[in-house]
Amino acid sequence: MSESNRYRLPKTVVPSRYDLVLEADLETFAFEGAVDVTLIIGEAVDEIVLNADELAFGPACWLETSAGDRIEVTGVWLDPETERAHLSLARTASPGDATLHVEFTGPVNDRLRGFYRSTYTDDIGEHTIATTQMQPTDARRAFPCWDEPEFKAVFGLTLVIPEGLRAFANGAKASSEPAGSGKRRVTFADTMPMSTYLIAFCVGRLDATEPVIMGGVPVRVVHVPGKGNLTSFALEVAEHSLRFFTDYYGIPYPEKKMDLAALPDFAAGAMENPGFITFREAALLVDPSTATQAEQLRIGETIAHEIAHMWFGDLVTMRWWNGTWLNEAFATFMALLAMDAWKPEWKVFESFALDRSEAFEVDALSSTRSIEYEVIAPADVEDMFDVLTYEKGGSTLWMLEQYLGPEPFRDGIRKYLADHLYGNTETADLWDALAEVTGEPVGRVMDAWIWQGGHPLISVVRQGDQVALSQSRFGHEGAGDGTRWPTPLRVRVGECTESLLVEPEGVVVEASADELVVANAGGSSFVRVHYEGELFGAVRDAAARLAPLERYVLLDDAWAAVLAGALGAVEFCELAARFGNENESPVWKTLLGGLGWCDRLLDGEPRDGFRSFVRDLAGPRLEAAGWEPREGESDLDRELRGTLVRAMGLLGRDAPTIDRAVVAERASRAGEDIDGPLAAAALPVAATAGGKEEWEAFVAMYRDGATPQQQRRYVQALASLPQPELMQRTLAKTLDGYVRGQDLPFLIGGCLTSRDHGSVAWGFVKENWDALSSKLTPHLLVYLVEGVRVFSTQVQRDDVLAFFETHPLERAGKMLVHALERQGVAVALREREAGKLAAAFAAGGRLRGLGS
Ligand SMILES: [Zn+2]
Repeated sequence: MSESNRYRLPKTVVPSRYDLVLEADLETFAFEGAVDVTLIIGEAVDEIVLNADELAFGPACWLETSAGDRIEVTGVWLDPETERAHLSLARTASPGDATLHVEFTGPVNDRLRGFYRSTYTDDIGEHTIATTQMQPTDARRAFPCWDEPEFKAVFGLTLVIPEGLRAFANGAKASSEPAGSGKRRVTFADTMPMSTYLIAFCVGRLDATEPVIMGGVPVRVVHVPGKGNLTSFALEVAEHSLRFFTDYYGIPYPEKKMDLAALPDFAAGAMENPGFITFREAALLVDPSTATQAEQLRIGETIAHEIAHMWFGDLVTMRWWNGTWLNEAFATFMALLAMDAWKPEWKVFESFALDRSEAFEVDALSSTRSIEYEVIAPADVEDMFDVLTYEKGGSTLWMLEQYLGPEPFRDGIRKYLADHLYGNTETADLWDALAEVTGEPVGRVMDAWIWQGGHPLISVVRQGDQVALSQSRFGHEGAGDGTRWPTPLRVRVGECTESLLVEPEGVVVEASADELVVANAGGSSFVRVHYEGELFGAVRDAAARLAPLERYVLLDDAWAAVLAGALGAVEFCELAARFGNENESPVWKTLLGGLGWCDRLLDGEPRDGFRSFVRDLAGPRLEAAGWEPREGESDLDRELRGTLVRAMGLLGRDAPTIDRAVVAERASRAGEDIDGPLAAAALPVAATAGGKEEWEAFVAMYRDGATPQQQRRYVQALASLPQPELMQRTLAKTLDGYVRGQDLPFLIGGCLTSRDHGSVAWGFVKENWDALSSKLTPHLLVYLVEGVRVFSTQVQRDDVLAFFETHPLERAGKMLVHALERQGVAVALREREAGKLAAAFAAGGRLRGLGS
């Protein structure tokens, strides 16, 4: 990074410690504060430059040298563009130690960033919580600071709070004293040396579970009163994760306590503040007896992800925001390892494949980006919080781990952390540590993967007694450019699996004609595979003997080939028809994802034919699974039942399935004991047969549902009600304050992707754009509009493009560019495939009756 970057603070003055006092007024939503920053002045300065935004300075502000001289700050100039404050000193400060004292005021905002407010209502009334979300650069809205990850410091925090409320922060509560006027002064233990984006604190009417000591670390869940019954799962995951990571990293947990806090309003999923990890409620609180396995896994992964960050990210931190991807990708991969160790029976890498497929789809666009890129302004990093960072980044680390071997990989991680304790790093530092431990060309391989967008298509061709693997760039736009990657790939020939590095010029392996060849064995490489001729037929015919992830990849690669125009949708359906006996829910889900697209492309009689095809395909498997959970069933067996109910109800439109779903949904809503995955699947199916009465009940369940998961399921199910006028009413609910801002993307996004009424939602978004965009953070806004990717007629596309031409997103705009290009892919898919699909599913067509 060039030193001339105007967004980087000068290093003439460096902080080592902050003593911060804050007092928020929860009625006027204003706060006042004072901070004493211990500094090292490296060279004589006339002004001190630090970050501040939306803060007013004063009344007092001065610099005190270690000799006790006080130098007044005579002027403050705030630059809103770089979000900096320039403090002019009355005279030059000489090099040496000093303390900067600044008093300031600011707003407790309602935009889910910096120091913000969250509310909840109970029997007593409405309550306000003042809480924080600092990443990436919002600490500067809570107090003046050197708000770059490289300026690590120790933080000593004191909060002045009303009697009767509780306060939490990174450090444990060290003291609490009356402060007069019905207030208390709560002081917290010092933090470890850390970056400003990791500061967190919270004041409100909140409860905490009794601390459970885990490996010497007291762990609690903080929640709004009345939700303590939903905390046990989180504590179990935390206990496992703490033990797992302490062992994996070979370093003790770096803070002294751990609180996991569930907040009613939270923009992201969760945030890795050391000692005080914050979550949205749905990402932490759960009743395992009514949740689906997928919901539990998502929560478990989120908790493990944040705990993984306590070392990787918090203890050792990226120097600047370009390193954000590695921070996030690594925590994503670590969470998979931790959950896989905790619940091997959940087969977490199979579920992860579904997330990875999203990344594949974005990465096949011509507008994809490299995983890492140069970040100049901190705002540039907003584009980095997407599937290419988390899912593609996490996948490349998984691929690397499989190539190096789990233990050598772990040893490299240990070395990297030990070498940089409490420090800051560049991405290459990790590759260097891994290369040193393993002797492999880690830097060369990973540089190609993180600095080039896209991914390879591995073509497998028989040449006599050998098989040649060559690579090209996979893309929806047809043949890609000349980009190539040194690609770690596991290849199985017969019974023997070999780990290879497929270089740009390709590689040849020995394989006689009767040996089965599986490229991407185990499914851990971030590649698409194309088998030529007989090689494909052999893999397809051997599907039952493949590992579940290999079957997943076979179908997922096939659907990607459909999007790329290399395979017909009809041929995809013929392949899908062979999977009626499939036992794994993720394999069904990827198959149904492709079929869901086919459903969008069909109307009238051919659509009836398609529905009958789906019923023939999924019906016997659901019949075999039955509607009632059985003795000895695994969590995944129950999950599969839910997947099949959705297939039969939503795509097959099977009348008996819909009837049973209506009964199950009503029983579940009435509080009867319906198995979680069945209740979750029955809801959207029942919604398709619902009306005004269900609309009212679903809206009420968003507030009254027993768990955050149930609330979320109901808010999403609103989009499945069949009447356009009910969708209008649903959409109107998003502006009257009933639905929390954090939930709008799920609600409006769900309406946008509705097959039949998406245009109703799009009309609403256009009409209310100003209201929506002023309400939401840049990420929530882009999640909300991403649903336009499914509009697949040219008329819709022209309309969407024209709208965003005049309404560009200020931040996270790259994700919108991806969504718009995906829409182009959808339009091309319709133009290419709709007619052929209709012919194949019409009476007498080649797919009629094939599912049976
Ligand atoms: Zn993270």
